[in-house]
Amino acid sequence: MSDFNPYAPPAADTLDSGRQWGESDDRGGLWRERFLLVMDRTATLPVDRCIVCDAPATGRPLRRKLSWHSPWWYLIVLFNLLFYVIAAVIVRKTVAVRVGLCDLHRTRRRRWIALAWSLVLVAIGVLGFVASNPVTDATMATLMALALLSLLAGGIVGIYGPRVVTAKQINDRYAWIGGVSSKLLDTLPDWTGPKYHG
Ligand SMILES: [Zn+2]
Repeated sequence: MSDFNPYAPPAADTLDSGRQWGESDDRGGLWRERFLLVMDRTATLPVDRCIVCDAPATGRPLRRKLSWHSPWWYLIVLFNLLFYVIAAVIVRKTVAVRVGLCDLHRTRRRRWIALAWSLVLVAIGVLGFVASNPVTDATMATLMALALLSLLAGGIVGIYGPRVVTAKQINDRYAWIGGVSSKLLDTLPDWTGPKYHG
């Protein structure tokens, strides 16, 4: 304990235990800007209520790493998709959140994930069929297109279906989060800092 400092703020464990909804009025680090929740990137979201609909949360909170980058970076897609992916990984800002979910929204999320995997399996099945059966060129082209489409659909469903909350903007200190229940937003103080640009 040689580095003990009596003047230091409470250590990280108070931050990690989370500010439970309804436990106190302290929702430090959380505000509302219209339909978005603004959070200090080190703040914690309430986990005893579903973040989507405000029903009592069940099961373990969901951990998500939300990322965002300026929409201008999408322009790179016009030139090269790979360059865009590399640029996005480098320039994106991320925020780690833990959110509560009710049974309904947990189940809905799982269904989207199951659907995404099903589409991927369909693609694999079709490719397997093509590889192990003699088919005409025309049939093969059709089946390959079907497999590719199924794979693409699986990817899109897998990315967008299970999302519960999304980062709409992140700067060095704050994150703007969309998809949050309006009932939670109603309990938060109004945000008076820099505005959401979207
Ligand atoms: Zn819910």
